[in-house]
Amino acid sequence: MIRKLITRIFSRKASSASRPPALIPVSIHGITRERVSNASRRICESLQDAGFHAFIVGGAVRDLLIGQAPKDYDVATDATPEEVRRLFRRSRIIGRRFRIVHVMQGAETVEVSTFRSRHDEDAPTDEHGRVLCDNIFGSQEEDAARRDFTVNALYYDPATENIVDYHHGVADLKQKTLRVIGEPRVRYREDPVRMLRAVRLAAKLGLVIDPAARRPIRDMADLIENVPGARLFDEMIKLLTSGHALKCLHELRDAGLHTGLLPVLDAILDDPGGARFITLALENTDRRVREGKPVSPGFLFAALLWGQVLRQWERTRAVHPENPDWPPPKPIPALFMAMEQVLDAQAEKLAITRRIAGDIKELWALQPRFESRSGQKPYALLTQPRFKAAYDFLLLRAEAEEIPSELAHWWNDFLDADGPARAEMLLPAQGKKRRRRGGGKKRGASPASDGAAQG
Ligand code: ATP
Ligand code: MG
Repeated sequence: MIRKLITRIFSRKASSASRPPALIPVSIHGITRERVSNASRRICESLQDAGFHAFIVGGAVRDLLIGQAPKDYDVATDATPEEVRRLFRRSRIIGRRFRIVHVMQGAETVEVSTFRSRHDEDAPTDEHGRVLCDNIFGSQEEDAARRDFTVNALYYDPATENIVDYHHGVADLKQKTLRVIGEPRVRYREDPVRMLRAVRLAAKLGLVIDPAARRPIRDMADLIENVPGARLFDEMIKLLTSGHALKCLHELRDAGLHTGLLPVLDAILDDPGGARFITLALENTDRRVREGKPVSPGFLFAALLWGQVLRQWERTRAVHPENPDWPPPKPIPALFMAMEQVLDAQAEKLAITRRIAGDIKELWALQPRFESRSGQKPYALLTQPRFKAAYDFLLLRAEAEEIPSELAHWWNDFLDADGPARAEMLLPAQGKKRRRRGGGKKRGASPASDGAAQG
């Protein structure tokens, strides 16, 4: 009790003995107001005209400083969410844990958040020390101190073009160092996702994680287990679509963060058999991100988990998963059972949203259908809404030598061919007895038709 009181007095003292922040002028950092997005600039102006402080903060300032295009803009202000809401017609308050305001300007949406302070020692935590609520408004200085890394605690004022820097973030960025604000162990315990963020941001920005921040990660990796699945899923998506996914995953392993983090990562990093396919998938994704093309989370997870599906599929085809005494299911039902099992195993850790799980299953389920190359089946496959993604997936499988490249070539040619040439490419229906329908009346089937179902 007394110890707690003393620590509290000391920590108050430490935080009240504040140094003024560095004010870095445009002549040094070079970010003129024209370089920030119109919406973020105008939002800051409106807030300042109404008598509030307002700055562009976080990732956008950091990215501009190293010459990358910011993904999105965040504004921090001393106005409360309600005050912000009142100033902007097209805005809404979102979030329960952190109440922030989304302000829409033209096509842009900017996240406006009120300066928050770091929780005090009485803030509720889970049994491992993860802070459950830190939504207390505070000063700008306190807002800077509760951010994760020094390079993320930079405030840019478009009116003066100054950067307000409380934690030497500009210098760290110059020295290519990712440094945690405060004591890394304490900050990771409060929020274990910061360990993942460290790895992702270091890979994305080409920074080295400061040794003091990197060292504890291996010991503390288990804390990730207490993070809610939905948050972990968001973070995994960010990591996998960062344009540096491959580097991030290797870095996760080097930092000791991968084991037990997600079954998918264990599978990827410890399975040399699947490594080639996953490496290709991630290289492909990284390339697309860097070219500014969209990537679908469904495709990515489908690729990451495909090796597991194949292995599980083999098992379900050999032995019925519900009862070993029953005859094993036919290939396609067996595939569907395997898919469910693989996704269920992930669901324990990772809250894959239902929509994305649907996309993943669709991609997987379409794969065996590429093998049918006679009759109407190839045409039916072409009409599938997810055909393009499934085809890209097939190409990846061929590139990884999981399937013969001949199959991928055939589909490539089939897509290129015109009507008659396509018909010529069809293979003869193989060894299947044509079932007669409608009392044995033979339908006018073409020799190529093997009775495929549409759709
Ligand atoms: P990017 O948008 O490129 O993924 P970012 O740093 O902008 O990176 P956001 O999730 O957009 O990441 O967060 C915006 C800012 O909020 C960060 O720059 C950081 O200052 C702060 N922040 C985000 N997550 C945390 C966290 N877990 N702990 C402390 N501060 C955080
Ligand atoms: Mg951001």
